[in-house]
Amino acid sequence: MTYIHQTITDLKQSSPAQCEFYQAVEEVLESLEPLLETSKRYQKHAIIQRIVEPERQIMFRVPWVDDNGNVQVNKGYRVEFNSALGPYKGGLRFHPSVNASIIKFLGFEQIFKNALTGLPIGGGKGGANFDPKGRSDNEIMRFCQSYMNELYRHIGPTTDVPAGDIGVGAREIGYMFGQYKRLTGRYEGVLTGKSLLWGGSLARKEATGYGTVYFAQYMLEAQGSSLKGKKCLVSGAGNVAIYAIEKLLELGATPVSCSDSRGTIFHEQGIDLELIKDIKEVRRLSLEEYMRVHSDAIYTPSGEYPEDGHAVWRFNADAAFPCATQNELTGEDAQVLLANGCTLVSEGANMPSSQAAVEAFIKAQIAYGPGKAANAGGVATSQLEMSQNASMRNWTFEEVDEQLKAIMKNIFTAASNAAQEYGQPNNLVLGANIAGFKRVAEAMIEQGVV
Ligand code: GLU
Repeated sequence: MTYIHQTITDLKQSSPAQCEFYQAVEEVLESLEPLLETSKRYQKHAIIQRIVEPERQIMFRVPWVDDNGNVQVNKGYRVEFNSALGPYKGGLRFHPSVNASIIKFLGFEQIFKNALTGLPIGGGKGGANFDPKGRSDNEIMRFCQSYMNELYRHIGPTTDVPAGDIGVGAREIGYMFGQYKRLTGRYEGVLTGKSLLWGGSLARKEATGYGTVYFAQYMLEAQGSSLKGKKCLVSGAGNVAIYAIEKLLELGATPVSCSDSRGTIFHEQGIDLELIKDIKEVRRLSLEEYMRVHSDAIYTPSGEYPEDGHAVWRFNADAAFPCATQNELTGEDAQVLLANGCTLVSEGANMPSSQAAVEAFIKAQIAYGPGKAANAGGVATSQLEMSQNASMRNWTFEEVDEQLKAIMKNIFTAASNAAQEYGQPNNLVLGANIAGFKRVAEAMIEQGVV
């Protein structure tokens, strides 16, 4: 235990005020205990000290002019965390909450997530504290161009390949790709999540949500059960949540909720997927709009449970799919879910469950798929997009979806085998962290002290 305290103490001193980052590191290090006890080789090569330190952190000014002619300035980031297994790979997040701590926790998680996919991708993450909400299309374009004016010199198809995350979808990737091409004169696979018209991969948009549901399916299969007929809570209303809902419906489950920053929809008879797509993907409106069509649904504005809880987790359900953002499911939320009979949690978002919530799920021995395993389908399919770009070919939707399923199955098997090997067969947090870590650590050792 002492090396965990030591590492966190050192991090607090060298990288002050980065609580989300400490949280992500602590969770991984705790899982690694049984491995580090039996093997001294990681200590000998100072793997822990090296793996918690990004290889490179880029922070830059992003100035742009809004529609009123006012100059705006945001902070841009790209953290190139670990390249032992391949080029840095991970999304860009545009959200007002973005800071160095958030980007570092996401980049750190990404190392192990990407390793778990078994594909040749390192870990990185980036973004800006830019709030796209209410911004015109022209403002979004100008912001993306300004962001790329700095980022272009750090990325490339064999060095660092960013993609989307919260606030960054195909539109933003398009504007950034256009600017990269203008600055460098090169048409290459430097970003993933591209439009299908010019280099994107079929099924990339659906991949994170579908993957999270496939992962749930594999957890249930191992118990001789399935998703059929299960009532499922989903949070979020972005790309991940929408396609998790789509796959749940396809597999005969009933997704009954979704949420955005302003409120939560609960619809007992099942979420109207086409309406959500229209509200969020086409009209870009608030979920409140849902009530105009379905007055039998329940809308709870955010802040209804200010005593440290979230409305979406207050409803009875068999399973929960947190697909919104970090720490959206607190210890108290976890207790409510468990008391209401929830026996499966599969995380579409990155670190959506707080430390207390994770502990509660593990203690209750429910089927719990942590984000870095359960949401790895997005980045895995990004790597499939890179493969298609490199070979100048396009695969069919079915080909990509089949590979996605196989990758999710492999991740489940790897995490579950490692959990068994280290004596906690139900603990996929432990299993995923150990399996991901081993692959990165062995590559780092073979590549010497770099
Ligand atoms: N932002 C996604 C993630 O958290 C996808 C990253 C990517 O496709 O590179 O994994």
